[in-house]
Amino acid sequence: MTLKVAIIGRPNVGKSTLFNRLVGKKLALVDDQPGVTRDRRYGKARLGHLTFTVIDTAGLEDAFDGSVEGKMRQQSEIAFEDCDVALFLIDARAGLSPLDKHFADWLRKRKKPVHVIANKHEGKAQDPGLYEAYGLGLGDVAPISSEHGQGMELLIDILLPYW
Ligand code: GDP
Ligand code: MG
Repeated sequence: MTLKVAIIGRPNVGKSTLFNRLVGKKLALVDDQPGVTRDRRYGKARLGHLTFTVIDTAGLEDAFDGSVEGKMRQQSEIAFEDCDVALFLIDARAGLSPLDKHFADWLRKRKKPVHVIANKHEGKAQDPGLYEAYGLGLGDVAPISSEHGQGMELLIDILLPYW
């Protein structure tokens, strides 16, 4: 049995970019347009000497419910049910949005372990977004940059206890 890690969060926070970096291939579609990942994608990830299954989400197109929240929740829920641990991404450049808070409320009610990841943190200029994420009430926040490959060692520290 391999560890399953889901990447969840609102559109455009960099979930597919992180997925691609972990999988090492251009498997997930990355786009400036929110919601281009049409369903869940599974990939074989490698981080240092650790290997695991990673699940990318968004699924804005595939929903029964008309609301953005409902659409994200539907895909996220399936991925969340299927994973051992979830990485909840926020955008440190943009700061928190109502959708992030909505997601956090949903996650806080679950029993499964969730780790908040402040993506797009390339330097001190993004510290305000990082600190703001502590206000989500989901514990410690790890600053990373999926695009530049920064903070990957923090992800190893986060995931190691689940082996
Ligand atoms: P998703 O909708 O959450 O899957 O987000 P994507 O992975 O498609 O990325 C959305 C946008 O954010 C794209 O333009 C990415 O190039 C950009 N992006 C992703 N990660 C980073 C990062 O670490 N730093 C910066 N500056 N931009 C990023
Ligand atoms: Mg995506």
